[in-house]
Amino acid sequence: MDAALARAWVTGIASAVRDRADELTQLDAAIGDGDHGVNLRRGFDAVVAALESAETPAAGDVLVKTGTTLVSKVGGASGPLYGSAFRAMGKALQQESSVAQALEAALEAVQKLGKAVPGDKTMVDALAPAVEAYSAAPGDEAAAARAAAAAAADGMRATVPLQARKGRASYLGERSIGHQDPGATSTALIFEALAAVTGP
Ligand code: ADP
Ligand code: MG
Ligand code: MG
Repeated sequence: MDAALARAWVTGIASAVRDRADELTQLDAAIGDGDHGVNLRRGFDAVVAALESAETPAAGDVLVKTGTTLVSKVGGASGPLYGSAFRAMGKALQQESSVAQALEAALEAVQKLGKAVPGDKTMVDALAPAVEAYSAAPGDEAAAARAAAAAAADGMRATVPLQARKGRASYLGERSIGHQDPGATSTALIFEALAAVTGP
């Protein structure tokens, strides 16, 4: 991944988040506080603005800047979680890791901060299978990104019957069952954006 691809990815996320902010907010209104779309739109708009003036010679620099901006601009659970994920991924790439290793570092950062495991009905339910699929995919970066996007979407849909054990939705207990997790939905969007810019 080079700096241009990383920029295209983050810009693609920002535009998808703008298009789907209402959907994300509605999912969060059902089992949270109804701000997930608003939070991410504010965050990724700030990222796009920050990148306009930033010197980012490598992909790692783009992603570290993305993470730092998300942490500073987005309150709530998702800002620090996505912020640490992008920062960890960027730092790994700055140290010459592969994209697969960098994604593993992102997952590790999210789990270290949020303490969620797969099945808790959080973004981890989309992120963990996506990272695994990316690493396991044979072939090039484009094929790996497509496999990751498909796995993230499956993980997102699989959150519907789960009862939330982390985050605001966990306050609802059994009433969280039957709703798709907003954070797993935005994670699926993030991998869709990666597949879209990675190529054919
Ligand atoms: P808040 O809940 O603070 O309003 P958001 O609405 O922006 O923040 O984000 C909610 C999403 O964050 C949830 O749908 C869930 O996927 C994710 N989330 C919440 N807590 C955790 C956690 N401890 N670990 C991983 N993801 C979490
Ligand atoms: Mg919320
Ligand atoms: Mg909130």
